[in-house]
Amino acid sequence: MEKFDIIVVGAGPGGSIAAKIAADKGYSICLLEKEDLGKNGRYKACGGAMAWELIDKIKFPEEKIDRMVEKLILHHVDGNIYSKKGKGAVIWRNKFDKFLTDMAITSGAELKQNEGLLEIKKINSRYLIRTSNSKYSAKYIIAADGVNSPTLSKLYWEKFDKKDLILTLTQEMELNKKKIDERLGNDEIHLFFGIKDFIPLGYAWLFPKKDALTVGWGNQIGKIKHTKSEFNKFLNIPLVNHTIKDANLIRYTPHLIPVGVRPILYKDFVFAVGDAGGMVDPISGKGIPYAMMSAEIAIKTINYCEKRDREEKMGETYIKRLDRSFLSILKQKRNLREKIFQNDERLKSFLELWENHRSSEIILRNLL
Ligand SMILES: Cc1cc2nc3c(=O)[nH]c(=O)nc-3n(C[C@H](O)[C@H](O)[C@H](O)COP(=O)(O)OP(=O)(O)OC[C@H]3O[C@@H](n4cnc5c(N)ncnc54)[C@H](O)[C@@H]3O)c2cc1C
Repeated sequence: MEKFDIIVVGAGPGGSIAAKIAADKGYSICLLEKEDLGKNGRYKACGGAMAWELIDKIKFPEEKIDRMVEKLILHHVDGNIYSKKGKGAVIWRNKFDKFLTDMAITSGAELKQNEGLLEIKKINSRYLIRTSNSKYSAKYIIAADGVNSPTLSKLYWEKFDKKDLILTLTQEMELNKKKIDERLGNDEIHLFFGIKDFIPLGYAWLFPKKDALTVGWGNQIGKIKHTKSEFNKFLNIPLVNHTIKDANLIRYTPHLIPVGVRPILYKDFVFAVGDAGGMVDPISGKGIPYAMMSAEIAIKTINYCEKRDREEKMGETYIKRLDRSFLSILKQKRNLREKIFQNDERLKSFLELWENHRSSEIILRNLL
């Protein structure tokens, strides 16, 4: 059995960043990933939109970016349109995640791919993990294995409440760049809202990539009976219908987004990071930066508590640092979400405010 200091389960943005930072600090790291990443990474259903600061921070190469963005257009299906300026990028997740995983490997993490975690148990002071290929042990576990987190369910951690889960449908469609630019502009991404006619608790999106479109729809699980027919309503909105005309459907994928934080994020040397911990913006669905930030905080917490011989304070330290960094705002946004989606009038007031303010500012200044 191979022994490590830390086993990171899942090589998404959270897991790869955790593995990189921990390896840089001198820990021996096993980065376990159930998918085969090959040369080009693996597909993940995602809008792939992110703020430019994140691209800059990790020095993501410009040639790997599919589209530079200058504006977010917010549509209410009643016809109101709001426009929000801000530099960003749209990327394919296979390229982005693979870039982060390669960074982790360069720093010294051992990637075990095509190996899903099948079993986890604690014997004395170490966790033993059995995968489809082998067995590993470590003192610490970073659960970065996404919204369904097999690691945390096998450890019997409490599951997400249904009202904290958004069911999404994503269509990837091929269309040449010229047509996309003519129909949608070359530097805009589009979000669509509408409670009464459209989506009671969620939104839909139309994100252009280089020569493809990501067309997606997400709504609180259980709120909609006929998901596919509701998704088709979105595809029939005139702008969407016009944009996807003669585009080629290449993929159709359902996926969950967690929009409420798990009641427990740390227990007995196991840390939940990213989607496994429910660390996603409940209003915008943005989760990539929070996965990366929570991963960094988890590793720094281990390092800090070990150095000061304060292992019993590990959970408390992790939560305090998460709260200070972004988590307390995400929790407040979760509460605000109910207020925003109460009716279309409130939703429009929010969209109007969002045009000129960050959503965190709307909360902190109590603008709604
Ligand atoms: C449709 C959709 C659109 C989105 N759009 C955006 C967006 O535009 N911008 C944004 O910021 N966020 C977006 N998000 C959210 C974002 O995708 C997630 O928040 C982000 O991927 C979380 O990263 P993570 O590392 O926590 O988990 P993940 O990216 O889910 O990675 C988990 C990894 O764990 C692996 N794994 C799972 N089980 C096992 C196992 N048993 N053993 C080993 N490995 C395992 C998986 O294969 C995967 O590689 C979107 C999400 C969805 C569903």
